[in-house]
Amino acid sequence: MIFKGRNQIPYAYGCYGYTRGGGKTWHGGQDIVGLDDVRVRALRGGTVVQSRIVTDHSNLTWEWGNYVTVRTASGEQDIYAHLDSRAVVAGQTVKAGDMLGIMGSTGNAAGGYKHTHYERRKADGKTAVDPSAVSGCANKAGTYGEAPSAGDRQYTATPLVGGLRLRPYPEASDDNCNGALAVLEKGKAYPLVQTRNGWAFLRTGENSGGWACISEADSTYLSIEEV
Ligand SMILES: [Zn+2]
Repeated sequence: MIFKGRNQIPYAYGCYGYTRGGGKTWHGGQDIVGLDDVRVRALRGGTVVQSRIVTDHSNLTWEWGNYVTVRTASGEQDIYAHLDSRAVVAGQTVKAGDMLGIMGSTGNAAGGYKHTHYERRKADGKTAVDPSAVSGCANKAGTYGEAPSAGDRQYTATPLVGGLRLRPYPEASDDNCNGALAVLEKGKAYPLVQTRNGWAFLRTGENSGGWACISEADSTYLSIEEV
């Protein structure tokens, strides 16, 4: 599936083939939300043929916002749209499960909520087909996949933004953090020791570590993942 953990199609209008305006508007993909992770992963391997955003509104492609197109071995195209940011470039080879970017709502994302519009096209690059068999989500509103469970499992926390600073304790003010504790590296997985009230204690070395905020308001800073 596109997201680790649970993948949700919240609304019927986010299904493939949904029509609006008396058939004038036809939805060519599935609008999928990652409930447990915001990283968008390739459903199938192949070559990245497009990774871009079109800002010229006279070109309809602007509606996709940040998007990535992967051409698979069979020639089909997988399109992932409305990304907050992209993690691959055109020409790159990806495997199934590789991260393509971060879920977002760029372009003309229906409903305005963060999701990934996933569209599966035939080798002609134009004809969209039902993507359910590839996405792992039935073509109806619902939640698919299992939530990651706690217990004695091992987790890592990966910063999704640059410059995230560790604090000695969650309640510490920014002033208390200057200098002493580490600045985390974006994209690096740190061992996660515990979480508390939206904060995560990470290890940065054998005897060092600190607290970082997992998310607030609309921004997610850390992605928590089972090892
Ligand atoms: Zn859509």
